[in-house]
Amino acid sequence: MRRPRFIDPFQPAQVRRLVREFGSPLLILDCERVRVQFRKLRKALPRVDLHYALKSMPHPAVVQAVIEEGGFLDLATTGEMQLVQRLGIAPDRCIHTHPIKREQDIANALQFGVRLLVADNPDEVRKFSRLSAAAQLLLRVSFRAPGAVCDLSRKFGCDPEDLLPLARLAADLGIGVRGLSFHVGSQTADASKHVEALAACARLMAAARRERLGAFDTLDIGGGFPIEYGQPVQDIGRFCAPLRAAVAKLPRRVRVIAEPGRYIVGPSAIGVASVMGRARREGRWWYYLDDGLYGSYSGQLFDHARYPVEALRDGAERLPSVLAGPTCDSIDVIAENLMLPQLKAGDLVVGRAMGAYTWACASEFNLFPKATVVAVNTRAGDTGSVTPWPL
Ligand SMILES: *Cc1c(COP(=O)(O)O)cnc(C)c1O
Repeated sequence: MRRPRFIDPFQPAQVRRLVREFGSPLLILDCERVRVQFRKLRKALPRVDLHYALKSMPHPAVVQAVIEEGGFLDLATTGEMQLVQRLGIAPDRCIHTHPIKREQDIANALQFGVRLLVADNPDEVRKFSRLSAAAQLLLRVSFRAPGAVCDLSRKFGCDPEDLLPLARLAADLGIGVRGLSFHVGSQTADASKHVEALAACARLMAAARRERLGAFDTLDIGGGFPIEYGQPVQDIGRFCAPLRAAVAKLPRRVRVIAEPGRYIVGPSAIGVASVMGRARREGRWWYYLDDGLYGSYSGQLFDHARYPVEALRDGAERLPSVLAGPTCDSIDVIAENLMLPQLKAGDLVVGRAMGAYTWACASEFNLFPKATVVAVNTRAGDTGSVTPWPL
């Protein structure tokens, strides 16, 4: 029997091989790591259905890996829905969680067969009044999270005081409400905000049920699970311990779902860029890479992340160095004050933990193309397959 070839895509020899085969810049996505992350989170939250939030890295190989692990999906746009549809995934594995949608986005989601959608205000709820039989709602509640790196509760969600009036409106319009959702923000330091929000939602759901405003048997606790970017974070089991305890106190009939993005895909990819050229300026070496802040490193701006970077070159002598992106904009600098061995054109620089909010928010400014994504270990049991994308 042929043993499946396991690729450790983060080994320097493999990185070099993949660059020879697919060019540079690359984003090397390890689906085995996606599966490992998924299993770790499932073990940490055993009663919770995990809906992978596509926006963090909308790549078919991640979606497939999550589905094959028995997971679910969190879609927010028609584009994400079309990706999932093309992969032949059953719509009942998906929820649509954008609180503000065009009528057409709602129609598209319902036509595909997604039934559970999110709303957070009266205007949005009214959009469902003619579709009441087809759609069921989660009402998104907002809880402020000043501790989160990205506080998403400012932009979306209704105040807890406005929840019951909103649920009454939905009931008056004959729209089925399945429950509540919240998203306290991304890369949260601990689960205290999640636990607080969960407890508040449990009380609101009980109140809504007492008023017979809908089923209120589903609670969506959002994403926000943290990963390491060179700085230690709570291990996921420990992070989730208070959440597990809070979930255990919910009535058994309540289905709990979560929407992890970063945790599933963040550690599962590395970025690989090549030195295009170099210059010595004011006592430091400047290395100009073919990927930068307008590309895979865009998360350093949009996501406030700092990816640990290293050069794939040995050298005892380390010199003060700057890593810059390729574009003509002076803001496009990845890291300063680094000590690196002396590099030359063609040398590779690797960034770690670059799966989430990197390629997804990259642009092609100056017409430097986005990194090619190479997914490896795409199938459990056939771990040697390599799929470049887009083809
Ligand atoms: C972005 C987003 C997520 C994913 O958040 P992570 O911090 O990546 O886990 C989940 N739910 C909603 C509604 C989001 O907007």
